[in-house]
Amino acid sequence: MTDLQDLYQELILDHGRRPRNFHALAEANSAEGYNPLCGDKVKVYVKMDGDVVKDISFEGAGCAISTASASIMTETLKGKTRAEAEELFETFHDLVTGKPAKLDSPDLGKLEVFSGVSEFPIRVKCATLSWHTLRSALQGNGEVVSTE
Ligand code: ZN
Repeated sequence: MTDLQDLYQELILDHGRRPRNFHALAEANSAEGYNPLCGDKVKVYVKMDGDVVKDISFEGAGCAISTASASIMTETLKGKTRAEAEELFETFHDLVTGKPAKLDSPDLGKLEVFSGVSEFPIRVKCATLSWHTLRSALQGNGEVVSTE
């Protein structure tokens, strides 16, 4: 259990229990994601103002990792540009898959708490589900994203 306790750090537990920006958003682009390995479901809403994320929220049901990841993602991305969001996703993906960060990578801030996920490959999909879903919402193709 020690490893799991390390993984489920306090911030992850807090966001898992009390997710931020956890509601639907009217007149927003949205997409749904599903991680069949764990049963995580998420719907991400994003409202753009030109190239900037004006508002972002999510709904869904999943494990603590997927919920906390979506919650911290929405907190992190509000006010960021589309390009910054893409860059953060790449950096975050490298982090949770255990790849070294590139020199010019953006600061992940709170997203750093997911570094322990790299030791649990099955959890990588929990942590990245909301990000894949956000990408789909930004592209507006309306398809359900599956991690499989
Ligand atoms: Zn999960």
